[in-house]
Amino acid sequence: MTLKQPPRFAVLQLSGCAGCEVSLLNASEWIDQFDLAFMPLVTSAYDVPEVDVLLISGGVRSDEDLHNLRQAVKRAKKIVAVGTCAISGGVANLGNRDEVRRLFMSQTERHDLPRLLPKSQPVDSFVEVDLFLPGCPPTPELFMGALLGPEDFVASKTVCQECGRKKLKDMKPAHLTGSRGGEVDPEICLINQGYLCVGSSTRGGCRALCTRPGHPCVGCRGPSDLLIEKDSQAWLESIQRVFAAMTDIPAEEIHEALLSPQLSLFLFQFSDYAGTGQPPRPKEKVL
Ligand code: SF4
Ligand code: SF4
Repeated sequence: MTLKQPPRFAVLQLSGCAGCEVSLLNASEWIDQFDLAFMPLVTSAYDVPEVDVLLISGGVRSDEDLHNLRQAVKRAKKIVAVGTCAISGGVANLGNRDEVRRLFMSQTERHDLPRLLPKSQPVDSFVEVDLFLPGCPPTPELFMGALLGPEDFVASKTVCQECGRKKLKDMKPAHLTGSRGGEVDPEICLINQGYLCVGSSTRGGCRALCTRPGHPCVGCRGPSDLLIEKDSQAWLESIQRVFAAMTDIPAEEIHEALLSPQLSLFLFQFSDYAGTGQPPRPKEKVL
């Protein structure tokens, strides 16, 4: 009798920070259920072999990224774009900001490095993707959901639904608290306490990892199902409506904070909607 072979998967890392790989390594269950064939962080193989599932992290930032991507997808049955960089450009996409691009482009004579593409782009600008797994990084549980079958993974529609903090009608801050607001009440919604939390418009699945211990959600899982097929303006307006209803904070203050460089570091899902012509992903393909 021959034993059934476990499904094989590989991890292709493009331009990113390796946070997705570290999160995957925390998903200890995969060890028994999958055969990890390629992941440069932990295996010494040089090329992606034939696999059942190819997880792709990082954005397409250089000609080397693009070459590796095109070679790897030929050898995989199912393609999963993992994390914000692969889906939206992410951290590498910050280089698309004009001031950062100028800095990069002044270094174009560095022949020993891969040639930078004019702009960072998400993986599905170049290859067809079967499943998108957003998060910065996705949690180990989300990785398991992507590998074992999204149909078995049950997530709430928004981070708010997973958060469990109480929203109070009579506690309306007049201004944003800022990042050094002092002690955070463990029971009450962070918006009531003046924090710029965007969990009401962000897709669930992370089990409110940040907000439960008291850090505002910065939207790393991207827009919720209600918003995912709309443009970035719809997401921004949805956040602003929540703050208009729950606080007395002037709309301009919220708008300015949402577009500030500090927050756009995290709300970088906006990158792929902002004028690149990238169509929104169908929600059925997003875990
Ligand atoms: S807005 Fe933020 S803190 Fe408030 S319930 Fe939603 S996720 Fe929790
Ligand atoms: S709470 Fe928000 S920022 Fe934190 S992991 Fe979840 S979606 Fe990402």
